[in-house]
Amino acid sequence: RAKADGRNSYKFFDADINARAMENLLISSALRLALERDELVLHYQPRVNLSTGKISGVEALVRWQHPELGLLPPLRFIPIAEETGMIEAVGEWVLKAACRQMRQWRDSGLALESVAVNLAARQFSRPDFSERIADLLEECGLEARYLELELTESMVMREPERVVQVLRELKSMGATVAIDDFGTGYSSLSYLKRFPIDFLKIDRSFIADIPDDVDDVAITSAIIAMAKSLGLQLIAEGVETQAQSDFLRRLGCDHGQGYLFSKPVLAGEIERMLRSENTNDAQAYLST
Ligand code: C2E
Ligand code: MG
Ligand code: MG
Ligand code: MG
Repeated sequence: RAKADGRNSYKFFDADINARAMENLLISSALRLALERDELVLHYQPRVNLSTGKISGVEALVRWQHPELGLLPPLRFIPIAEETGMIEAVGEWVLKAACRQMRQWRDSGLALESVAVNLAARQFSRPDFSERIADLLEECGLEARYLELELTESMVMREPERVVQVLRELKSMGATVAIDDFGTGYSSLSYLKRFPIDFLKIDRSFIADIPDDVDDVAITSAIIAMAKSLGLQLIAEGVETQAQSDFLRRLGCDHGQGYLFSKPVLAGEIERMLRSENTNDAQAYLST
């Protein structure tokens, strides 16, 4: 009996793997069509300067408006696209769409400092990565200083020598670089010093329980102190409460991103927020 059960469970296991592989293939080929049919959309989440309360930049976050399944979050298709190689085409689409949008915002006079784009390992490891970025910026008519690229610790640690070189190239063009989800990977602090990085984004798992959790407070304070001494700017991810925001500002954290300020929204909504900031400024000015 035990033997039969064992064999059966292997069968189930195989069937599960096959079903998953099948689903991945289906999603991946559907994704190819989705690109042609323009079913991907970018949402943008504001990043707020904690001392002024103003929007300092936005992060582009991709979604898939699937005709039957509805709006799919990136975690439903990005990991699959990474496995099957579709990520390169998806990544190009995202970069192009984000740069075009930024160009439009700048053209319509909105004082937005940057648009941040998440990169996949496979995109970044292309030997011609920085040339691709340069071409793309030219194609979109966007100055490099408006583009911020988000990498993860593991992407940076994989081939540190090459990464230092690529980051120097990006930096000499004028683009900025952020390390995303900081604190969740294994990055060597001594390497961090050698990388020409502009921003560290503190992972939201450290932010969630501050100011109550003493360990998270200790970790967050240490990250902020270290980053400051290396001359990096900090962004706290997943800021959901005023208490978190106040606490982070007091610790010297420069920027915050999270539901407290806004969920990721469509481009039109970002424009509305920026315009209403301007109106509020004008009103404050007139009333003084
Ligand atoms: P990420 O880059 O760390 O982005 C932050 C994620 O946290 C976003 O989820 C955002 O909606 C969510 N978030 C923001 N504020 C809060 C908050 O206050 N509370 C909570 N609970 N969550 C918050 P989203 O949009 O589902 O994206 C998930 C991940 O998918 C991203 O994490 C990023 O790693 C990846 N991703 C998104 N767009 C792209 C893309 O264009 N290319 C690649 N390669 N990856 C992408
Ligand atoms: Mg990100
Ligand atoms: Mg993150
Ligand atoms: Mg991430």
